[in-house]
Amino acid sequence: MTNKCLTLALHGGAGPLRGRDYARELAHMRGLVEAGRDRLRAGAAAMDVVVETIVELEASGLYIAGRGASPNTDGVYELDASVMDGPTKRAGAVAALVGFAAPIRAARAVMEATPHVMLAGDGAAAFAAAQGLARIADPAAWFTHAGDGKGRTGAELATGTVGCVARDETGALAAGTSTGGVFGKLPGRVGDAPIPGAGVWADDRVAVSCTGAGEMFIRAAVAAQIAHRMRFGGEDLAAAAAAALEEVRALGGEGGLIAVDADGRVSIPYNSQGMKRAALHADGTIECEVF
Ligand code: ASP
Repeated sequence: MTNKCLTLALHGGAGPLRGRDYARELAHMRGLVEAGRDRLRAGAAAMDVVVETIVELEASGLYIAGRGASPNTDGVYELDASVMDGPTKRAGAVAALVGFAAPIRAARAVMEATPHVMLAGDGAAAFAAAQGLARIADPAAWFTHAGDGKGRTGAELATGTVGCVARDETGALAAGTSTGGVFGKLPGRVGDAPIPGAGVWADDRVAVSCTGAGEMFIRAAVAAQIAHRMRFGGEDLAAAAAAALEEVRALGGEGGLIAVDADGRVSIPYNSQGMKRAALHADGTIECEVF
């Protein structure tokens, strides 16, 4: 079963701080990788595994995405999410979406049910409603960080996007990213997470999901840069990922990314203190770490 190069990586953001206990996140991420592995072994498509894994990450409240998202300076939870399908290079995204429990499902619906790549703000919400996606009835009860964090500090809420990349038994690659953005963001601020080429990418060679200082990831076109280094520069995954992240650092940004290539190699570089992450490698081993 392990010789099909089935691979999966997920992240829960580049914001963890040393000295804190991440036992719950580690157990949660390991469980998701095991579930994703079982689905891939049963023949599931990479895109399905990516979306269902991110739905679970969003719903957990353990990361700064979905239920765990942080609000903007008006106290409103504006969420960004995206998916990209490697074989077709189709992509879907929502930006500054308010009022829906699973932004990643809205992103997938944009890809599958519209001729567009991204819907934002009120238009995204109207579309999500028309798609019948689950609404958040009571934001104060839903969001685990409602009210300013229920004891969490601003620093802890700083970053914490979630994402997933996968390679299925057909060799198809897929990527997805979902976030509440950065703590203290202005209303209407959109980060890298919903932007193909910045915080998400998938083509026939590589699938990428990023986390960290979104403005720098946009300016460095991190996810597309990795793909282009591989396609046009002949770099391998690890070299391309490291070089793109180095450009983020040079711009003054911290963060990290998960990436998987067509051969099932996984790369998870980061330059932050830590990054919540877990991966199923092609040989069947599972890695699950924060620092
Ligand atoms: N990259 C995300 C953003 O800028 C934040 C994060 O990764 O936590 O919106």
